[in-house]
Amino acid sequence: MIEKYDYIAIGGGSGGIASINRAGMHGAKGALIESNVIGGTCVNVGCVPKKIMWHGAQMMDEMNLYASDYGIDIPSKNLNFSKLVENREAFIERLHGSYENGLASNDVDLINGYAKFIDNKTVEVNGKQYTADHILIATGGQSEFPTIPGAEYGIDSDGFFELTELPKRTAIVGAGYIAVELAGVLHGLGSDTHLFVRQHAPLRNFDSIIVEGLLETMEREGATLHTYATPEKVEKNDDGSLTLYLEDGTTHETDTLIWAIGRKPNTENLNLESTDVSVNDGGYIIVDEFQNSTAKGIYAIGDVTGRVELTPVAIAAGRRLSERLFNHKPLEHLNYDNIPTVVFTHPPIGTVGMTEEQAIDKFGEIQIKTYETRFTAMHSSITKNRQKTYMKLVCCGPEERVVGLHGMGTGMDEMLQGFAVAIKMGATKADFDNTVAIHPTGAEEFVTMT
Ligand code: FAD
Ligand code: NDP
Repeated sequence: MIEKYDYIAIGGGSGGIASINRAGMHGAKGALIESNVIGGTCVNVGCVPKKIMWHGAQMMDEMNLYASDYGIDIPSKNLNFSKLVENREAFIERLHGSYENGLASNDVDLINGYAKFIDNKTVEVNGKQYTADHILIATGGQSEFPTIPGAEYGIDSDGFFELTELPKRTAIVGAGYIAVELAGVLHGLGSDTHLFVRQHAPLRNFDSIIVEGLLETMEREGATLHTYATPEKVEKNDDGSLTLYLEDGTTHETDTLIWAIGRKPNTENLNLESTDVSVNDGGYIIVDEFQNSTAKGIYAIGDVTGRVELTPVAIAAGRRLSERLFNHKPLEHLNYDNIPTVVFTHPPIGTVGMTEEQAIDKFGEIQIKTYETRFTAMHSSITKNRQKTYMKLVCCGPEERVVGLHGMGTGMDEMLQGFAVAIKMGATKADFDNTVAIHPTGAEEFVTMT
């Protein structure tokens, strides 16, 4: 007996939950299939636990770098790591409950198990078949591991969230979001942290002012950075420690090794061969601007498509897809331009729109004017540790439309959202200048740059 639904979503993460709930709100009978716990990467091993750990590291920074110069004496700065982890996981458990309630209120059936396609309209879970005219693939991704000898001694970000004790020494390999975020967290919490990158800098594809800010800040108060450092092999020592061998002949001893070298889509075991769905060379599902795959009635959103791997992107694409399919909005789709993003370093990095380099490539050097500033954040104006803020506006054409905004500094995570609205609306430098500043804040510098 095959069970029939209007809409089936495979993957109970950010995108799948958002899309199936929105379909349910419009009266579609939906099923959500999840092989693991509800919530996906973001809730369980991504944004949510990461942000909690980031807050913990920020608090440690406040105590270690700033408190005494504010006249605050904190006798014990001891971190109870396992308590932090316990409270974090209890919070995530509560989130599971609220996701389940949300699904129930939209009359969505939650099916626990691993889905595989039988054909374009049918999937199988635990030996039972389910069919729908509309099927969504929102299966997300997983970490890549290197193929060097001893790679299995390292863990990935999922493994980081399984730690119940703070490692004394940590080595992180990688140069993207996860590498710099985990390096910041572990360093802030007190692990002797080393970050190994293959090139001259981490986040090297971000705007040059971000790379400059990150390098200077890491040098002054962050994890130890090793550039042009490519791992060759890893060995486990008798005392349980690990030795990382690098291609330049140097070695580094550590207790915990974290690989953060990128992610790959969860498409391998979906039995896509039984459908008309096509994937690209990296295994990502090929979709058009409406999230249609190459198979009629099968759609894909989120990390499994490899386009801007962020939770709000998966959510926005999923909701718009359901508006299109179940609420008579045939043209509804997500515009992927000007998506703001924050990297939770210490201090955080915020960026929206084009880097200066991208803008020059697209519009020509003559069209581009930039405004930059670097200053000591007021927060650290009276402390020995002076933390700098870095900001840049990338403007285009005679009207100086702001096509890129980049910053690193205290509060950048919270200040970016509003500026992203302005940029999405096509704000010009004159619009920024015409906006009265809020004083004293870091954000005011974005509207007072000359
Ligand atoms: P996921 O959330 O990964 O959900 C996919 C789900 O599908 C999983 O639950 C999986 O178990 C399930 N699944 C897979 N295959 C099957 C199958 N065959 N059958 C049934 N179920 C299946 N983004 C941000 O915006 N901000 C952040 O701060 C941030 N921090 C991050 C930190 C880390 C360490 C990581 C790894 C990611 C972070 N991200 C962040 C990215 C964000 O988590 C992802 O972009 C987002 O979760 C993608 O949502 P998704 O729905 O595409 O996939
Ligand atoms: P990223 O794609 O961001 O970065 C991985 C980087 O690791 C590569 O760019 C590369 O940089 C380096 N690398 C690749 N292979 C190797 C190798 N063999 N050895 C050493 N270094 C290598 O991947 P992440 O896994 O960090 O993050 C995945 C995505 O998840 C992000 O792009 C982001 O979309 C999302 N995310 C978002 C967060 C947020 O919003 N705050 C937080 C965490 C993740 P190079 O070429 O310079 O060496």
